[in-house]
Amino acid sequence: MRWIELSDKVFFIEGENHGRYPFSNSLFIDDEVKALIDTGLGKEVIKRILKQKRVDLIINSHCHEDHTCCNYLFENAKICCHRFDASAVRSVNELLKRYGPLEHEVVEAIRVFLKEMFGLRNSRVDFEFEDGYVFDLGDVKLKVIHTPGHSIGHCCFFIPDVKIIFLSDIDLTSFGPWYGCLDSDVDQFIDSINKVKKLSAEIAVTSHKGIIMGRDVIETRLNEYLDKIFERERKVVDFLKDEHTIDEIVNKAIIYGRFREPKLVFKHFEKIMIEKHLHRLIRNGLVLETKRGFKSIMKAKV
Ligand SMILES: [Zn+2]
Repeated sequence: MRWIELSDKVFFIEGENHGRYPFSNSLFIDDEVKALIDTGLGKEVIKRILKQKRVDLIINSHCHEDHTCCNYLFENAKICCHRFDASAVRSVNELLKRYGPLEHEVVEAIRVFLKEMFGLRNSRVDFEFEDGYVFDLGDVKLKVIHTPGHSIGHCCFFIPDVKIIFLSDIDLTSFGPWYGCLDSDVDQFIDSINKVKKLSAEIAVTSHKGIIMGRDVIETRLNEYLDKIFERERKVVDFLKDEHTIDEIVNKAIIYGRFREPKLVFKHFEKIMIEKHLHRLIRNGLVLETKRGFKSIMKAKV
């Protein structure tokens, strides 16, 4: 188990397989109140934590399965999350509705996957917080930064005294931002990245990428991550120099590059993300909806 002290009482705990999906990394605050952010570390890691430490508080960064799946192992802890994601932590069905309509075959495939991969079950939520809420854990004060976009209740957590930020699924992976659920929002994601950038953190921890040190490095990484959104958008506009249907755009795999198995599921995510870009591009006057599909609006040359 990798357990790294970031500052007095604040520890990074690495999830199995370096916190790559289906696992995720956590922050543990070993203060008067002992708090753990997210429970996607993997069962073995969590069992070892429980042998060594008391955990009073579980703070879920958001409702996704790879952050909440082991909530049930913390019987004595108070479980909390942002009020906009609470229903989807409490109920697997509510989470599934964010992936698409329940009767949809893709959502059925996701239901089976969540059951087999995570044994995902409904969770308690004992407390719902909002933007700006401060967890007073003793010496450590942990501030909630509501950062919607990935999910509507997605949050980051900032410890101002030591300038440590937990960026959750603003995860700084090379894949870039993920907004494949119905409650995801590209504009909100952009605003959220800019919001955390302003905090000028010195140490950042993300759910799937580990520790990033140094204010300038963090800012550069956030800029690169943000730019992924605009890069995808440029590719869509470029592809739509010729008119294409939504299925043709999805099959181009602009976001995923190639579709892993189960293809059905990843194509579904690609479609949802592409649709969000198309809405933005239409609103910004860069793409036109046609009878057959979509086409870029060519700017007249002057
Ligand atoms: Zn997530």
